[in-house]
Amino acid sequence: MIDKIYQKVAERDPNQPEFLQAVREVFDSLEVVMEKRPIYLKHKILERIAEPERVIIFRVPWMDDNGEIHVNRGFRIQMNSAIGPYKGGLRFHPSVNLGILKFLAFEQVFKNSLTTLPMGGGKGGSDFDPKGKSDNEVMRFCHSFMTELFRHVGPNTDVPAGDIGVGGREIGYLFGMYKKLRMEFTGVLTGKGINWGGSYVRPEATGYGQVYFAAEMLKTRGDTFEGKTCLVSGSGNVSQYCTEKVIQLGGKVVTVSDSNGYIYDEEGLDADKLKFIKDLKNVRRGRIKEYTGKYPNAVYTPVDPNLDYNPLWNHKADIALPCATQNEINGKDAQHLINNGVFCISEGANMPTTPDGVEIFLDAGILYGPGKAANAGGVSTSGLEMSQNSLRLNWSREEVDQRLHTIMKNIHKSCVQAAEAFGMAGNYVAGANIAGFLKVADAMIDQGVV
Ligand code: NDP
Repeated sequence: MIDKIYQKVAERDPNQPEFLQAVREVFDSLEVVMEKRPIYLKHKILERIAEPERVIIFRVPWMDDNGEIHVNRGFRIQMNSAIGPYKGGLRFHPSVNLGILKFLAFEQVFKNSLTTLPMGGGKGGSDFDPKGKSDNEVMRFCHSFMTELFRHVGPNTDVPAGDIGVGGREIGYLFGMYKKLRMEFTGVLTGKGINWGGSYVRPEATGYGQVYFAAEMLKTRGDTFEGKTCLVSGSGNVSQYCTEKVIQLGGKVVTVSDSNGYIYDEEGLDADKLKFIKDLKNVRRGRIKEYTGKYPNAVYTPVDPNLDYNPLWNHKADIALPCATQNEINGKDAQHLINNGVFCISEGANMPTTPDGVEIFLDAGILYGPGKAANAGGVSTSGLEMSQNSLRLNWSREEVDQRLHTIMKNIHKSCVQAAEAFGMAGNYVAGANIAGFLKVADAMIDQGVV
């Protein structure tokens, strides 16, 4: 039955491989739920949940510093609002297309449900590439993007945030234009600056949460981060704060990367090295290979397009923390990780492991925390930012961090309990998909056919 429903989804959008990959994984986990609770089939919940409530596509014209005009494409996918206003990041990257954003929006629905906060799922972005653009060019692009998006978002309708290529700088420009057009100062975006409605710990939240989630998984085996060697990918927002938390918990991070290559630092990163990376990536907007100029004992390996695996995942380690992008760990990488002794994986990126890689992790019986659970700390703290905006209050750093930590513990518990309840103990993929699904599905039934 589920197979038939999936086939229909696949026939409708055959050219959206990432979206279909995400749907397939969730549907597979839900087979056992449908057997026990056929009411979801009767109400056509799967057919409805895989179809966005609304998709907005628009032109984004902007002018570069030389006076030349460019045209990009903007998107917002309003996937599901059964349990709250649409919520999910904006991604600016040349690879952005409808299928990628639909996969991210679909994942977001279950992730947001897992947080226990009242947030529906959405995602958006553009094929604009911020790399190599001046601040003024990025500002003009963001302003142009918002001159259309502002019609479709609002604090009770849809609340976007950051993602790849969208950090504090971009959120600032987007917020500025929204405020001008609507003539109101309101919590329409999260990830705002701390002086103008942002929340403490929002920049840190995804990476910190990912490590909190991993720590909970380790705890089930009486273990901790202390003394563990960790492979981290990416060097952006999630990667930086994941690395920071691992260091704080006594672990050793030996790799970080960007889209051109990765560095391997056998001695491990410390607070000074991480500060160098933050400055390199967030202020100077440079490339990770510059790390070896400052720390010559580290080795830089450029991406080799002829390889069918990523050598970053082929080092001796205990824990892997992917923080770059989707499908960055394929079957071969997954096997390398297992062969190298990795026994715990917590995903900061969204869907960083291909389906054959996931199968290898599950078969190996290692601790494997999928992105929709492990990286939910970012959107959870966005939810906390929305609450603070509504209350017109600012909680302290300690208070937000403590709430984040509690939420991550609860997400871990929900995954464990849902997997056990449906006979798949220890399977965090099934646990996350099932726990996330049930709340949304029940809300959809309560609200009728809308
Ligand atoms: P950033 O833009 O801050 O950093 C992304 C990092 O990944 C950069 O180092 C980038 O390298 C690298 N990267 C991006 N695309 C590719 C690619 N195709 N191949 C190799 N490397 C790549 O983004 P974030 O840190 O915010 O996001 C990273 C991941 O975490 C994404 O999957 C995102 O969806 C997910 N995520 C983010 C959340 C957040 O709060 N920001 C919340 C939950 C999930 P380069 O500098 O060369 O582009």
